Amino acid sequence: MSENNTHESAVTAETAETDYDAIVVGAGFSGLYLLHRLRDEFGLSVKVIEKADDVGGTWYWNRYPGARCDSESHVYCYSFNDEILEEWDWSERYPEQPEVLEYLRFVADHLDLRRDIDFEREVTSAVFDEAGGRWEITTDDGSQETARYFVSAVGCLSKPFIPDFGGVDSFEGDWYHTGKWPHEPVSFSGKRVAIIGTGATGIQVIPEVAPEAGELTVFQRTPNYAVPARNRPLDDKDREEIKRNYDEILEKAHNSGFGHPFEAAHETAEGLSNEEVEELLQPRWEEGGFRYMLTFGDLITNPETNEYVSDFIRDRIRETVNDPELGEKLVPTDHYYATKRPPLHTNYYETFNRDNVDLVDVRETPIERITPEGVRTTDADYEFDTIIYATGFDAMTGTLLQMDIRGRDGLTLEEKWSDGPKTYLGLSVHSFPNMFTITGPQSPSVLSNMPVSIEHHVEWVSETIKSLVDRDVPLIEPTKTAEDAWTEHNRQVGESTLYTEADSWYMGDNVPGKPRVFTPYVGGVDVYHDTILEAAEKDYEGFELTESTQDLGRQGEQPRLSVMEGD
Ligand code: FAD
Ligand code: NAP
Repeated sequence: MSENNTHESAVTAETAETDYDAIVVGAGFSGLYLLHRLRDEFGLSVKVIEKADDVGGTWYWNRYPGARCDSESHVYCYSFNDEILEEWDWSERYPEQPEVLEYLRFVADHLDLRRDIDFEREVTSAVFDEAGGRWEITTDDGSQETARYFVSAVGCLSKPFIPDFGGVDSFEGDWYHTGKWPHEPVSFSGKRVAIIGTGATGIQVIPEVAPEAGELTVFQRTPNYAVPARNRPLDDKDREEIKRNYDEILEKAHNSGFGHPFEAAHETAEGLSNEEVEELLQPRWEEGGFRYMLTFGDLITNPETNEYVSDFIRDRIRETVNDPELGEKLVPTDHYYATKRPPLHTNYYETFNRDNVDLVDVRETPIERITPEGVRTTDADYEFDTIIYATGFDAMTGTLLQMDIRGRDGLTLEEKWSDGPKTYLGLSVHSFPNMFTITGPQSPSVLSNMPVSIEHHVEWVSETIKSLVDRDVPLIEPTKTAEDAWTEHNRQVGESTLYTEADSWYMGDNVPGKPRVFTPYVGGVDVYHDTILEAAEKDYEGFELTESTQDLGRQGEQPRLSVMEGD
């Protein structure tokens, strides 16, 4: 063997280890299913890179007391594998964090996924190499791999956010963000605890910490509309019933507007009397959970309907909280119900009847800074042993943009999205060929029961990749025209609702400096799914497909196989 040949084979061996058909970032619900589809169904080489030391995503990181699903367990799961559906038994109507995490571990083991996941590695950059038509992925250990396809499965709610209060690190007690909760048990016994934030997370954590803490002080900026979850254990009879009807239940969920197996019970509350509306709301309230939100189909488009539904909750809050003045502080009046993500609760309002729980309204007396001893508002200094930040996430785009993603001509995704996300179908971005985003901005994602939307995306992306590989089409990229049209459609649909009137993370309002744009697609899971399937059926309408691998060596212009919509 000549010296040259030896060198060549060494390079080939090296390349074989570091070059893949697809690199996927994230090993939550999305990344796990992607790996299974691409590797096991389609025989492609795949590497998943995950910064945690285990699978689970959201359910790995959010271990705070009270962390629990708001989707019902029997539909907060994968539907693609009958064995998994059959073998896994949920214990409650809404599973707690450890149970969802255990479920995802079970899936990873059942499908033998771990062997292709690199844990404790964080992707720091993804750069598209135009000459070779491949993505170069770099991780925090400095190593680099390449892939034809780069798929982000980094999640919509995975970059914890703490407002810039000042002094956070100076606090001498213990402090935690709920989205990065320690693995060891945290004791609140007899302690003076602060919880900042009353979103879906705060509303779950507050009733859990209060009974254990010596004193609990809740810092609330915006009161929320929490609806009773009405959680309960599931027994064998429930599970048998679910499993017997699983096909029908899942079919309903996958063809619904929100990915849940139920739709709005009534069209509108408009024109009805108070009594008539209450009669329709009461049974849904008794059922609990998101079923209440889906009492009327025009909740988020019709202020009259929304006002009825909001008022009903306001009355329940006033009824529950013993101290009328405190009750009034907990009643939301500045936004319509469900225009901020609607939380479910178990004993949230009841918790404020405890002697050891206090509420500080930070609209009246804003937080000035965190001090070594606690929290300083414009009105007082509060001393604490522990501070819990339930202050949410840099949602939808934060985790994606944390990676330095560069497409054609070195364009960064951050530059591209400086005025807000622009995508085609919430799946792909012009100038970023062969990149896909699972539950990306401008797809239904967080406005749905997410495993349903995740399955729709994973199936679409994996089938697209498989079809391109089979046809030897090396590049796929949405046209600018298609991207502009989808972005405009998103804007219009968003603005036809009440969502855009509220300050929310859906709009990017929670993170200073973020462009104010309604980010998820609100046209409905069913409508959206039909739309992406139709684009694929029309030979990837709205995308450009490059002709052949031979042409990739030529830098600059890329020849096109089909141009469905010109730029
Ligand atoms: P994630 O679960 O967020 O996983 C993304 C993974 O990517 C993470 O493991 C992360 O570590 C990894 N990652 C990110 N960046 C990098 C990087 N640069 N390098 C390497 N790895 C990286 N949805 C519902 O539908 N119903 C619910 O009831 C519900 N409850 C929720 C409760 C909480 C507390 C939260 C925060 C969210 C909840 N959600 C719920 C939304 C939830 O995020 C989704 O349902 C789902 O778990 C998302 O899965 P995913 O795989 O897309 O993303
Ligand atoms: P969030 O909804 O963004 O809530 C953050 C809270 O912190 C809000 O009350 C916010 O007040 C407050 N806050 C932010 N900045 C503040 C400041 N400078 N001063 C005082 N208060 C401040 O975050 P989250 O509760 O973690 O929930 C995020 C999302 O995760 C949810 O919407 C949901 O999609 C998901 N989640 C789901 C579940 C579930 O399904 N079981 C549970 C938890 C979370 P404002 O409202 O005034 O901004």
